[in-house]
Amino acid sequence: MSHEEFTDDLLISQDLPFAPSIDTVCVRAGGDPEPGSDALVPATCQATTFAQSVPGLSPRYCYGRTGNPTRDRLEQALAQLEGARFARSFASGLAAVDTLLHTLRAGDHVVASQDLYGGCWRQFTKVWSKFDVRFTFVDATDVTAVAAAITPRTKLLWLETPSNPLLRVTPIAKVCAIARAAGVRTVVDNTFATPLLQRPLELGADIVLHSTTKYIGGHCDVLGGALVTDDPTIAQEVAFLQNALGAVPSPSDCTLLLRGIRTLSLRVERHCASALTIARALEGTPGVEAVWYPGLESHDGHAVAKQQMSAFGGIVTLQLAGGRAAVDAFARASRLWTLAESLGGFKSLLCHPPTMTHASVEQSERERIGITEGTVRLSVGLEDARDLLADLRHALSAASVTRQAEVVR
Ligand SMILES: *Cc1c(COP(=O)(O)O)cnc(C)c1O
Repeated sequence: MSHEEFTDDLLISQDLPFAPSIDTVCVRAGGDPEPGSDALVPATCQATTFAQSVPGLSPRYCYGRTGNPTRDRLEQALAQLEGARFARSFASGLAAVDTLLHTLRAGDHVVASQDLYGGCWRQFTKVWSKFDVRFTFVDATDVTAVAAAITPRTKLLWLETPSNPLLRVTPIAKVCAIARAAGVRTVVDNTFATPLLQRPLELGADIVLHSTTKYIGGHCDVLGGALVTDDPTIAQEVAFLQNALGAVPSPSDCTLLLRGIRTLSLRVERHCASALTIARALEGTPGVEAVWYPGLESHDGHAVAKQQMSAFGGIVTLQLAGGRAAVDAFARASRLWTLAESLGGFKSLLCHPPTMTHASVEQSERERIGITEGTVRLSVGLEDARDLLADLRHALSAASVTRQAEVVR
């Protein structure tokens, strides 16, 4: 079998007499005990090359970039999580983005959600535009705007939902149907939702993208990305590019990601429950001008989120009164919330998008989509929600003192 082909010979023996729930899939993902040793946790295969018996036989494994048993286990786990046949893993989320965009050619056009992860926006506008791949950014929550942006040159519709950092919700099934009718492939960046909360392929998307660095890894100690699809043609293209471009994860990265997947459902459950508690508690709190969380009834996308998500995720975004000075005081005063890039890990993190994750997005563009100096993104971790809330209230009062001092001055 060549590396560009796929088989359905999953490493998990498909011997369950019933269809397992996704919680069970998470625990079992990555396969049966290691053949030979029966080790419950398979060894990491670090080999870069594999012995071949006769020249030209195309063995299952020949070279580490092309394929590796540990990476296979991860890819099969990722496919199972999304209920798909094919998955490929990458060295980072942006490596997955880069690989997918290599399916395009000069002159091709992409319609993308406007409030996109900053790194995707940077790659689109600063790298791919040099090679004449063209992008139109739209408010993808507006089905008519998506339809209007599609041209005869459009090859890809790029959705991120819930979006980063404002958690806007795109009606996946509706926009996928529009794209499909126009012969356009749809990719959904499912990083925020995880396969536990949202199933884009079942809603009509062609490809799911993950930064596995976030919830799937979950421990802030491994970078990774994934492309998942049920379409054999797309799978073939991606497999070819994975090997041809070479942005693959190391075997030890794959092992860490497999370990993360085993507890993913448990972690996501806690992230969602705590995020909802915190979002509800902060709504209407003095010093907080807005709370964005798809689980709040006040959120624009709540109805759609309820239809297409099983829970609302672990990210809550706030608009603090008092702008930058208040944000600085808030960040300085918080103890449980670490000021850091990234999200989806065990530890609660606090991020200021305009100076951090979205610093590469031009200010005018940031303002157009609604990211301001007072925007703060919370990645709700696994600590006790009561402690997290107590710490937020403490930090908010520090921000309020700063605000009052500014008024006096
Ligand atoms: C982090 C992130 C990415 C990029 O992934 P890396 O692993 O950092 O390269 C892409 N999309 C979303 C939504 C992200 O949060």
